[in-house]
Amino acid sequence: MTNLKQNEVWFLTGSQHLYGEETLRQVAEHSQIIAKELNQAEEISVSIIFKPTVKTTEEIYAVCQEANQSKNCIGVIAWMHTFSPAKMWINGLKILQKPMLHLHTQFNRDIPWESIDMDFMNLNQSAHGDREFGFIVSRMKIERKVVVGHWQAPQVKSQIDTWARAASGWNDWQGAKFARFGDNMRNVAVTEGDKVEAELKFGFAVNTFAVGDLVERINAATDAEVKALIEEYESSYTLADNLKTNGAKRSSLIDAAQIEIGMRNFLKDGGFKGFTNTFEDLHGMKQLPGIATQRLMAEGYGYAGEGDWKTAALVRAMKVMGTGLEGGNAFMEDYTYHFDPSNSMVLGAHMLEVDPVLASGKPTCEVHPLGIGGKEDPVRLVFNGKAGASLNASLVDMGNRFRLVVNEVEAVEVPHALPKLPVARVMWKPLPDMNTGCAGWIYAGGAHHTCFSQSLTSEHLTDFAKIAGIENIIIDKDINLRQLQNEIKWSDTFHKLGL
Ligand code: MN
Repeated sequence: MTNLKQNEVWFLTGSQHLYGEETLRQVAEHSQIIAKELNQAEEISVSIIFKPTVKTTEEIYAVCQEANQSKNCIGVIAWMHTFSPAKMWINGLKILQKPMLHLHTQFNRDIPWESIDMDFMNLNQSAHGDREFGFIVSRMKIERKVVVGHWQAPQVKSQIDTWARAASGWNDWQGAKFARFGDNMRNVAVTEGDKVEAELKFGFAVNTFAVGDLVERINAATDAEVKALIEEYESSYTLADNLKTNGAKRSSLIDAAQIEIGMRNFLKDGGFKGFTNTFEDLHGMKQLPGIATQRLMAEGYGYAGEGDWKTAALVRAMKVMGTGLEGGNAFMEDYTYHFDPSNSMVLGAHMLEVDPVLASGKPTCEVHPLGIGGKEDPVRLVFNGKAGASLNASLVDMGNRFRLVVNEVEAVEVPHALPKLPVARVMWKPLPDMNTGCAGWIYAGGAHHTCFSQSLTSEHLTDFAKIAGIENIIIDKDINLRQLQNEIKWSDTFHKLGL
């Protein structure tokens, strides 16, 4: 789907002319060594590109302007090896539109006790140079991530990668297009939102397309395309008997394959990165898309049901952020609870559209009636999700701002067979515990639709929310409900003041 190595993070080193040529030569040499090591680090998924030391207001402005213009540059790392008087940074930072990470590091890890002299001190002075830089960024109220530690430390590299992945998700949103088939599910509140504000804030566009035009593409699927896709279903999944050749429901599988081909062609030709649809508007479609949507999500398209374009866009960004990591990112809905006090958990699923990137083992391909939508029985993939550390993320529109709510959860093996449940399902235990986690989510106004992630951490989402400049609420093992409610109240005031 995405090659994150195409994304460049520019490594900017700040200094000044005060120290003379020899010091500046060493600064340049050191920052090249650091940039090279970060670029080659296994932990880092993007390219880290060295840029010559910036020493004047003009040089800083020029490199920020260049970063803004560069298509491949998704962000900048700033580091002050020596002192770089920060008034020089004002004009550049005023125009910088790319995400920024402030790396607070030092070239030498240790103090050379025997040999340390004032030359060493003048070269290795990021301890105060970076404070000067931090002041101006704070004074200008610019969001950035601050990473502290020696540049060779694995934790530093991994924190840089976390931010770089968030910046990659953000970069993917810029100019992205999401297709909406049908409007919002009638009367539902949380899936609504301001699409104009979203385009201003997030950089992606959401527009509607007629279901009839999609149906035309579905009907245009050729027999050869359908045959090839059904062969792929047969080799990838365990087909229910009634879907096999000569099975009683074989024609449903053919219809489902046609739907998938038509939808993929529509999305591909239109350059869309994701889509949403609704069971209330399927005019001309034989089935609610099940397997089609599931497989398109697994390919990397963002999706959410019932017109929920915010979650569709979030799913797409999180898929990009998780590229190459173990575990998937998927559209999810908190469906049903198990309130056994000794083993409380949530069953997550959707009517059909659960992303097979979450599957443990080979999914089965089945067809069953669906009580809503009023269409023929839809074909879907059925499977259980995997256990492991996970999270749910939800993007909601609070009227005067967007809020990203995250709950860390522990996914568990589905403890029992569910022979009558004809849908894929995942089970998890919210942190810090079922009751507190769910209460926190509800106080925060988190939606029933989420992106469920088994590859990202709340640090990825916090970095992402910072880059987007939106509110972020994390519900994790340390949450305190009283504090959370205060945080929400204070945040409301903060946003009302327009700070
Ligand atoms: Mn739903």
